Amino acid sequence: MKHIGILTSGGDSPGMNAAVRAAVFAARAQGITLYGIQQGYRGLYEGNWDELTLDKVDAIHAQGGTILRTARFMPFQDSARRQPAIDQCVANCAGKIDGLIVIGGDGSFRGAQDLTNHGLPCVCLPGTIDNDIACTDYTIGYDTALNTVMNQVDAIADTARSHDRCMIIEVMGNKAGDLTLYGGIACGATAVVLMEHGGYRFPEEGEMDAETKARFESDLVARVLKAKAAGKNYFLIFVAEGITGKKDKNGKTRYPGGAEALAKALGDATGADARCDILSYVQRGGRPTARDRVIATQMGDYAVGLLARGISNRVVVIHNEVIMDYDINQALKMPKGLSAADYGLAWRVSL
Ligand code: ATP
Repeated sequence: MKHIGILTSGGDSPGMNAAVRAAVFAARAQGITLYGIQQGYRGLYEGNWDELTLDKVDAIHAQGGTILRTARFMPFQDSARRQPAIDQCVANCAGKIDGLIVIGGDGSFRGAQDLTNHGLPCVCLPGTIDNDIACTDYTIGYDTALNTVMNQVDAIADTARSHDRCMIIEVMGNKAGDLTLYGGIACGATAVVLMEHGGYRFPEEGEMDAETKARFESDLVARVLKAKAAGKNYFLIFVAEGITGKKDKNGKTRYPGGAEALAKALGDATGADARCDILSYVQRGGRPTARDRVIATQMGDYAVGLLARGISNRVVVIHNEVIMDYDINQALKMPKGLSAADYGLAWRVSL
């Protein structure tokens, strides 16, 4: 394999650039030309790529975002439009790009699986702040996002403490509660509420039922009152965006009215000055932490090694601090877990 493409797809995450940079070095060492494809699968479809040389990637490891830019390419997501789009991408690459590195989340992995099955061998790197990919302990960008959550909430806590406030903090992660759980532990949250634990009945679509809503609220009210009785004057309630932030196609959040409504319900029931802070896109950006840069560099280097040896349809993962690879088909079937022990810990250390 002498010509490899690399693209970033789905949401951007800090560390993607370090992976791209490492791939350039690894390719160069093996006499492979590496092409940077712009805007994810859209660039592949439009034939929008350039050779990546050392001067183009010299200092990018320290930058958040992705120099390749990213996009959600809808024709791949739509089963009726997918096959012609895949065929077009494979045809564009014929004689020019022999293999592809895809950095993104599980949606991007499905695109890579299709491309591999239709003649363009792909290797994937897990790049998402959500840490929602089951086959790897960490995704590229998660550590930076977790540190961003911690720094933002430390600042919010300063003002909450000064004004005796109860703050609902909505944290990103799609359906995965990793950032919420570990952000909550890092910040001494009074409560951490997730989709994965707590025994609530969250619907796939639409609002939670009235019984779930009542229990959900009463658990949080009890928690705040207990913390107040223990002498605490401010309360940080970490809530996963899947509960208060993600809207379904009808514009409904699982908790009716979202984080603002939850703050009002808690304020009314506890007498606390309750407000919400939706951390939002700040969690995606920023300079990658050392951990993200190192993991991304290891993974970018490893991915080139796989393709150079003719191995494809793999996801590069980190497991118990060792970089290894995993079959994409298996990876996409693995259920994502979140430590019940750490969920228990978050509640034990929270008053
Ligand atoms: P993030 O976790 O940051 O959202 P992601 O890779 O999961 O990243 P998606 O929006 O789900 O983000 O997918 C990114 C792109 O991957 C889509 O825009 C589409 O081009 C492609 N893709 C998604 N789902 C599929 C699918 N089922 N088959 C083929 N391609 C897909």
